[in-house]
Amino acid sequence: MAVTAILTLSGCRNERSSDASFEDDFDYFVEQFADLKIMKYRVPGFEDLSLKQKKLIYYLSQAAICGRDIIYDQNGKYNLAIRRTLETIYSSFSGDRETDDFRNFETYTKRVWFSNGIYHHYSSDKFKPAFSREYFTGLVYRSDTTALPLREGETVDEFLEVIVPVMFDPDVLPKKVFTDTDQDIVANSAVNFYENVTEQEAVNFYNSMKVPGDTTPVSYGLNTKLVKENGLIKENVYKLNGLYGEAISQIVYWLEKASGVAENEEQKQVIDKLVEYYITGDLETFDEYSILWVNDLDSRIDFVNGFIETYEDPLGMKATWEALVNFKDLEATRRTEIISANAQWFEDNSPIDERFKKNEVKGVTAKVITAAMLGGDCYPATPIGINLPNADWIRKLHGSKSVTIENITYAYDQVSLGSGFLEEFASGQEEIDLIKKYGYQADNLQVDLHECLGHGSGQLLPGTSPDALKNYASSLEEVRADLFSLYFIADEKMLELGLLPDYDAVKAKYLAYIRNGLMTQLVRIEEGKDIEQAHMRCRQIISRWAYEHGKTDHVIEAFTTDGNTYYRINDFQKLRMLFGELLAEVQRIKSEGDYEAGRELVETYGIRFDRKLHQEVLARYEKLNLVPYGGFLNPMYEPVEENGELVDVRISFSDSYAGQMMYYSKNYSFLPTWN
Ligand code: ZN
Repeated sequence: MAVTAILTLSGCRNERSSDASFEDDFDYFVEQFADLKIMKYRVPGFEDLSLKQKKLIYYLSQAAICGRDIIYDQNGKYNLAIRRTLETIYSSFSGDRETDDFRNFETYTKRVWFSNGIYHHYSSDKFKPAFSREYFTGLVYRSDTTALPLREGETVDEFLEVIVPVMFDPDVLPKKVFTDTDQDIVANSAVNFYENVTEQEAVNFYNSMKVPGDTTPVSYGLNTKLVKENGLIKENVYKLNGLYGEAISQIVYWLEKASGVAENEEQKQVIDKLVEYYITGDLETFDEYSILWVNDLDSRIDFVNGFIETYEDPLGMKATWEALVNFKDLEATRRTEIISANAQWFEDNSPIDERFKKNEVKGVTAKVITAAMLGGDCYPATPIGINLPNADWIRKLHGSKSVTIENITYAYDQVSLGSGFLEEFASGQEEIDLIKKYGYQADNLQVDLHECLGHGSGQLLPGTSPDALKNYASSLEEVRADLFSLYFIADEKMLELGLLPDYDAVKAKYLAYIRNGLMTQLVRIEEGKDIEQAHMRCRQIISRWAYEHGKTDHVIEAFTTDGNTYYRINDFQKLRMLFGELLAEVQRIKSEGDYEAGRELVETYGIRFDRKLHQEVLARYEKLNLVPYGGFLNPMYEPVEENGELVDVRISFSDSYAGQMMYYSKNYSFLPTWN
C-alpha cells in the first residue's frame, strides 16, 4: 500500500524531519504547470555512507530507472508511441516555439511525462490537448520525421491516423481505469492489462486458477497481460524472455551488480531471489522474495523494484511497475525509538483515570527512510509512505514493513512554506517565524507521539465492547491519539529526552493545529458540504472544543483584520490543560463504550462549521493559486572511476524537468514502441 500526499497544508499529517536546523538554501521548487508542481528532494546522509553502500545505491538506482518504459506501456498501449512523438517534436521542431500553441504543446508533453502516459495520474481521465489536431499534424511534419516511432513500411500519415484519434477524440479510450460497474470495467478501461478480453472472461479465467482452501495463494495475474488470440485466452508474462523482457534484462543486469555489493547475506538473498523472479516470472518465487524482503530488517539500504501495486487494474489484480531506493534515516528512527522506549512513563503520566491505564504498554517504532531514487509508478508522483508486501497471508504470517519517506515530506513542507499559504492565514509575524523555525520538527514529533504511543495507550474496562462507538469510533480514535500527542508534546519530558529544542516549538505546533482545525483545513471541503473524513473531524473537534471551553479565559481568540479572520492563542499552558481534560473524557468514552457521549461530541464539534467563514477561506485560498498535485525530480548519481575501478559515487541535482525526462528517454528507453 502506498500513502500519497495530495494537498500539502501546513499542519498536515505524515510529515517528519530529522533536520535540526531549518536554515535551508536548497531550492526545492522547480516549476508549476496545469494542476501540477515539480519539486526536487535532497538525499541527506548520502555523503556519509561507505563506498560499498554508495555503490549499492548507484546500482539499485540504475535498476530503478531502467523500467521507466514499462509503466508507460502498462498505462496505455499508445503511450510509448505518443511519448516518442512528443519528444521528437520537442527536440527537433523547427518552427516558432514562442506561440501560445507551442506553449500548450509543451504543457501537454509535461503532463504526459508526469503521468507516464496520456491519462491523469489521479483522476485517470484522458488529457484534453489545448491545441488542435491540425496544429499537431503541422508540428510533426516540421520536426525530424525520421525519428518518429514508425512501424516497418508505415508512412507518417498512417502513423498519425493511429495516434491522433487516441490523443484528440474524447470518445476514444477516454479513461485509464473505468469504474462504472454497470458496464464492462475491463473492456472500457484503457489500461493495458487486457486485450480483446471481457470482464467476465477475465474473471472466469482467474477463478478457474484458484485452488479451494489454499491459505497461501499466489497473487494471480499480478505480472501478466491477459490476451485473447485466435479465440484462446492466455497470459503474456512480464519476464526476462517474455513481455517487457528488453527492460527487464537491463534491470536484472543492475540487480546482479547490486548483489555483488550487498550489505549482508540476507540482503544478497533478497536481491538474488528478485533476479530469479524476473527471469522466471514465477509468482511463488515472488512470494518467497517478499518474505525474504520483509524479514530483512538490519540492512541500512532497502529498495522496492517490481510489479507491486494493483490500483490501476479495474479488477485489482495486475500490478504496475515501480521502484524506490532508500536508506534508513538513523537519527529520525532513533527519535521514534526513544519515544517507544519511554512508553510506560507516558502511560503512567497520562491525565486519564487510573482505571483506564494499561499496566504494561509497548510503543511502536516507526521506520523513517530517505529516498535516494524514484522509478516507474513512483516517479515523478511519489508516495510519502509505504506499507508492503500486499499479500494478506504474508502480512499475517511474516509481518509488513511500514515506512515514512522523510526527505520527501520535508521537501513538500519547504515548498509549502514558500507558497504564501502561511502568510495568508497566520495570525501575525510572530506565528510565521515560529512555524518557519519549528513547525516541521514539531509536526514530526507530534505524528510520532500519535502513531507510536497515542493509538496504543489506554484500555477498555472489562466487558466494554470494542465496537461500542460504532460509526463515531474512527473519529474519536483519532481525537484520542491527537490529544495524547498534543498534551505530551508540551511536557517537560520532551526537553529532557532531547526531542524538542525549546518550548517555542510547542507554540508552533499549537498555533498550526488550532489554525488548521478551526479554519484552514476547510479549503479541502466543497461549498455546501460537511466534514466527513475522520482525521478532519478529529482536528475540528479538538480545536472547537478547546475554543469554546477556553472562551471565558480567552485561551484562543478570534479576530478580524480587513475582513479576514485569524486566530491567536493567548495562554498555551491553559490550552494544554484543556487538551488534557478532553483526553480524559474521550478516554472515558472509549473505555466505558459511552456511545451517547461520543455521538454528542462528534455531532456538536466535528461535522458542521461556519458557512461564512468557509466562503472566506475558500476565496483567500483561491487567490494563492496553489496546485493540488506534486512530483519530484530525481538526483543524479555519477560513478567516479579510476583505472577502471569505481572509487566514488557523486550526487548532483538537476533543475530541469524537461531535461531529466529527455535524458531518461534517451538513455533508459529499452522497450519497442509496440509490445
Ligand atoms: Zn491516527
